Amino acid sequence: TVRTRIAPSPTGDPHVGTAYIALFNLCFARQHGGQFILRIEDTDRVRSTPESEQMILDSLRWLGLDWDEGPDVGGPHGPYRQSERGDIYAEYARQLIEAGHAFKCYRTSEELDELREARKDAGMQLALKPADLVLPAEEQARREREAWPHVVRMAVPAGGTCVIHDMLRGTIEVDWAQVDAQILLKSDGMPTYHLANVVDDHLMGITHVLRGEEWINSAPKHQLLYEYFGWEMPELCHMPLLRNPDKSKLSKRKNPTSINYYRRMGYLPQAVINYLGRMGWSMPDEREKFSLDEMMAHFDIQRVSLGGPVFDLEKLTWLNGLYIREELDDDAFLKALMEWAFNERYVKEILPQVRPRVETLSEVVPLAGHFFSGLPRITEENFDAVKLGHEDLLRLLQFLVWRFEIVPAWHKEALLVEVKGLAAHFDLKMKEFLAPVFIAITGSTASTSVMDAMAILGSDMTRARLRHAIE
Ligand code: ATP
Ligand code: GLU
Repeated sequence: TVRTRIAPSPTGDPHVGTAYIALFNLCFARQHGGQFILRIEDTDRVRSTPESEQMILDSLRWLGLDWDEGPDVGGPHGPYRQSERGDIYAEYARQLIEAGHAFKCYRTSEELDELREARKDAGMQLALKPADLVLPAEEQARREREAWPHVVRMAVPAGGTCVIHDMLRGTIEVDWAQVDAQILLKSDGMPTYHLANVVDDHLMGITHVLRGEEWINSAPKHQLLYEYFGWEMPELCHMPLLRNPDKSKLSKRKNPTSINYYRRMGYLPQAVINYLGRMGWSMPDEREKFSLDEMMAHFDIQRVSLGGPVFDLEKLTWLNGLYIREELDDDAFLKALMEWAFNERYVKEILPQVRPRVETLSEVVPLAGHFFSGLPRITEENFDAVKLGHEDLLRLLQFLVWRFEIVPAWHKEALLVEVKGLAAHFDLKMKEFLAPVFIAITGSTASTSVMDAMAILGSDMTRARLRHAIE
């Protein structure tokens, strides 16, 4: 049976690109009566966080992209989190070493730099090959004896051509000369993406790998690993990456890329899925509006076109409007609103902000409107009351966005640390520093506490509003 998977790394916001790739994997599996698996690739122990993993699971579920096996639902091929599979990778690395397909490399980073420099000076390919990396036998033995830190690298051919088959692109040829003796196990014993990904795809019975085209260059290494292990390789299909309207790769500098942003902005999951389904793909009858079920029923991977699909916010917004007007009756609209923000959990978070500041109930909505809206309309005049030069206040907001991008956990205390640090950096009192932030977030000069507002609004909406005020 057909088995596909999505294999996100929990290192940040849940990316719309992840949802897009998940959607196509799900449709491909369902169309063939197969299964769709979710695996967490958290071998980067520094950048992976449980919060990010939870956000990825939540946001894919919100979109209705349900998986048959995964870290939360279990399944016969678990664990589905790579950090829990360390012994498995170590064992397979050992097998490769034993068979002479991999070797322990004791080269220091200085030595590696020197080797690269020398190759550069000689005008040679920069890829380092096993032959470049071996040490004289004695030196190798000494470093082994003295337990120097080492990595395990993969043996790769010195020359010749690697031929890859891709379901959409046909034959792809890559010169082996360009391919490094890839690290398989890092010095801390953790596997790299390549080893873990191949071992898991095999053990989890994956038959088709649909992933972003950014992974094409990894395919030769993967194919070679399958050969070394004597395993059948899944079919590969490299999907075109999502693009900004200017055709550059979709990036958060130009477009919000977090699924949470779209959720907070009040897009409907059906509309987002429909829109992602139109990224490089179309229904046989070219209709623009279709449901996930309809997409699954009519799915054909060969209808994916390779020209970079443009993720256009205006088009998504237009489509979302169609859904609200044509697909939701009053009851469904009410339900959508309640799920979005008009629910007890969210309103209860806001009430403590509001109660001390009102005398009648009718003041609540004007005061708390920013908790239920998207991006406020902001002009330069809004900032007139702020006693800072325009350039300075834009710089201040930009710095805050950058700091907020790397804040590890989104809660008020953590945000306060960033704000205080930056206020000191700009040599401003907290009140002065927060004045432009207040306007960017609430769209006015009188409202609820801005620190609390940012904590409640969450990372995506906060950063989007700050960025919006700068534009
Ligand atoms: P950065 O903004 O730092 O370049 P990124 O936007 O590329 O990062 P990553 O964290 O590298 O984000 O990627 C997260 C996931 O989203 C990966 O699985 C990646 O394949 C996918 N992804 C990222 N950008 C795109 C894109 N333009 N189209 C499709 N998928 C993407
Ligand atoms: N962990 C990789 C990612 O973040 C998976 C790539 C693949 O699908 O092979 O995209």
